[in-house]
Amino acid sequence: MTRRDFIWTAAAAAIPSSAQVRLLMPVHRVMDARAQCPAEQLHHFWSSIWPEAVRDFSQGGIELQTSDGPGEVRRSPGDQPIFIGLRRGVINLVLTDHIPMNWDNGRALAGVTALYAGYHVCMVAIRYAHGNQIPFVSVNTCVHELLHALLQDIFVSRPKWFQASGRELRIDSYATRLWLFHDGAAIRKSAQAYRDRLRSEVAARTAFDSSARR
Ligand SMILES: [Zn+2]
Repeated sequence: MTRRDFIWTAAAAAIPSSAQVRLLMPVHRVMDARAQCPAEQLHHFWSSIWPEAVRDFSQGGIELQTSDGPGEVRRSPGDQPIFIGLRRGVINLVLTDHIPMNWDNGRALAGVTALYAGYHVCMVAIRYAHGNQIPFVSVNTCVHELLHALLQDIFVSRPKWFQASGRELRIDSYATRLWLFHDGAAIRKSAQAYRDRLRSEVAARTAFDSSARR
């Protein structure tokens, strides 16, 4: 090793891992126009829970690139959600007051992450959402749901992973490493693949649309 190589290697080692490769992740926030949330719950969410999620990801080298748009969650008679205002090629973070029965089997969940008609949706119930509480057990609701997307659980059909506590434990342990140790290396790797897949889905759809128009 030459002296120059040594200096380069030492300099690289001195840079914290989160500064080496920062990954941008597009998140489109949709506040459900029909949600009925008390003002203090909304305030707690925007002043504490969401900033904590942004900070946790940032410390692990992942920047959430946010956009906002109007939208709502309509409920069909069977309590199936009908989403308005979703975008392609992004994670749609839909903020509502409670998760529709049909999506959470009446368990009063704080969040659910799933594909909906090809859209990527993390739905968070503001009234049940919380910040980091207990390592490995109770972590920030937004971090938890976004990790279901970044770690690609979202592609596994819902009934299979929905009750699988193994996946929940895995998500909470990754979230804890992000929260306490600012370790996002493994998440970044998966998130990169996830983002590539998001982009290729959009490209495939655009190609399909333009060929259909011909
Ligand atoms: Zn979960």
